Amino acid sequence: MGRSVLVTGGNRGIGLAIARAYQAQGDKVAITHRGSGAPEGLFGVRCDVTDSAAVDAAFTEVEAEHGPVEILVANAGITDDTLLMRMDEEQFTRVIDANLTGAWRVTKRATRGMLRARYGRIVYISSVVGLLGSPGQVNYAASKAGLVGMARSIARELGSRDITANVVAPGFVATDMTDAVSEDRRKQILASVPAGRYASPEEIAAAVTFLTSEGAGYITGAVIPVDGGLGMGH
Ligand code: NDP
Repeated sequence: MGRSVLVTGGNRGIGLAIARAYQAQGDKVAITHRGSGAPEGLFGVRCDVTDSAAVDAAFTEVEAEHGPVEILVANAGITDDTLLMRMDEEQFTRVIDANLTGAWRVTKRATRGMLRARYGRIVYISSVVGLLGSPGQVNYAASKAGLVGMARSIARELGSRDITANVVAPGFVATDMTDAVSEDRRKQILASVPAGRYASPEEIAAAVTFLTSEGAGYITGAVIPVDGGLGMGH
C-alpha cells in the first residue's frame, strides 16, 4: 500500500469514486481537474489531457508530491452524441482526442517512471458501448473500443517489466454524464440491463482497485465488464 496513484478526471463522477477507493486503502492519490480544484483531502493537479505540455507538467507535480506514478487510471472522458449524418468532423476528432489520444498521452508519460521502476498498473475506463456500439455515439464508441487495442498492445509491449494494462468497461452509471439522458431513453436502457438498475460509481471503483491489487498481478490485457449484464457475450 501507499502507492502513488493518478486518476485523470478524478474531481467528480466515476473518477472521484475511484480516487476515494484508493485513498481508503491508504494509497497516495492525485487527481486531475480542469479548474474545479481538488475535492477535499485529495491532491489535485490542473490538467487537460488534450494538451501534452499540461500532461507533462501535471506528472512532474505529482512526482514531486508523491513520487513516480505507479498506478494510472485513465478515466477522463466526454461524449458529444449525434447521429452519423449530423456529426461533423470536429465532433468526431474532439471526442477521440479527449478519450483515446488523451489516454495515450498520459500512458506515454506514466510509463517513463514505470519502466524505470519495473512496476506499473494501468487501467482504462472504457464503456460497454465500445464493444456493443450505440446509435448516436460513433465517436464515443470508437474512442472506447480504441482503448481495448491500446491496453492489449501495452500489455504485450511492457508485460515483461511487470507493467499491466487492463480495461474496465462500465455499463450505465449514475453520474453527470448520464444525467443528460432523457427519461424515455433511461427506461429503454434499464429494460435491457439484466440487473435492472444503474451502477453506482463505487461499483466501478471496486473493479479498478481489484485490477491493481496484489492478487491481480497476473491479469493483463483483460476487459472487465461492470455493466449489470448489459454486454454479456462481448
Ligand atoms: P463525468 O462527466 O461525470 O466526468 C468526466 C470527467 O472527465 C470529469 O472529471 C472531467 O473533468 C474529465 N474530463 C473530460 N474531458 C477532459 C479533458 N480533456 N482533460 C481532463 N479531464 C477531462 O463522467 P463520468 O464520471 O460518468 O465518466 C468517467 C469515465 O467513465 C468517462 O471516461 C466515461 O466515458 C466513462 N463511462 C461512463 C459511464 C456512465 O454511465 N457514466 C458508462 C461507461 C463509461 P471536468 O470536471 O474538468 O469537466
